[in-house]
Amino acid sequence: MKILLVEDEAKIAAFIEKGLNEHGYELTLAADGQQGLRMAMQGTFDVIILDVMLPVINGLEVCKRVRQEGINTPVLMLSALGTLEDKVQGLQAGADDYLLKPFHFKELIARIQALTRRQQHNLTGNNMLHIADLELDRTRKYAQRDSREIILTAKEYALLEMLLQNSNRILSRDEIGNHVWGQDFDSSSNVIDVYINYLRNKIEKGFSSKLIHTVVGMGYIMKEQ
Ligand code: CA
Repeated sequence: MKILLVEDEAKIAAFIEKGLNEHGYELTLAADGQQGLRMAMQGTFDVIILDVMLPVINGLEVCKRVRQEGINTPVLMLSALGTLEDKVQGLQAGADDYLLKPFHFKELIARIQALTRRQQHNLTGNNMLHIADLELDRTRKYAQRDSREIILTAKEYALLEMLLQNSNRILSRDEIGNHVWGQDFDSSSNVIDVYINYLRNKIEKGFSSKLIHTVVGMGYIMKEQ
């Protein structure tokens, strides 16, 4: 777990660093807003802890710019300013949570854990389906295998989505036909076999393993070898 801490007060930074290291977190420290912004832009951290009052660029501005660049790393803001208005400003700048100084270390850890859980859920929740090195992002309607984009037609997409949602389970031709083609499905046609072949050409040809397996007399199953 990699954390970026942007904090100019050496004492507080050292206190946080010591505690996080003890909990197994890997900490990178930036001592002003400009340095923090540059590091945050790398997008390689699991959480950013961001102080509000910082030299060069303040924490609110850092947070805004990070979000403008499309970086979604969870941000926990730290501040001694305790009014409601300050908190609202922090959240409006794109922070996910807000912690007032002074704080108990236990609370900091609990907030970090909550943020990373939420992030994990967003990444692997209902919107991502995957098996082996194949991934389907249902929010963006985007498929990739081994980091190579796979362009799908609407029917191929629907078929792949169904196979992934039911991975490790045999799907009969009737189930697939009714789900993907609905009313139009003619069970005497070979349309499913044709589309399974299209899909195999796109997601298996040139890749390391087969994912769609034919189960003779029963249908198809998506599984790792
Ligand atoms: Ca400060």
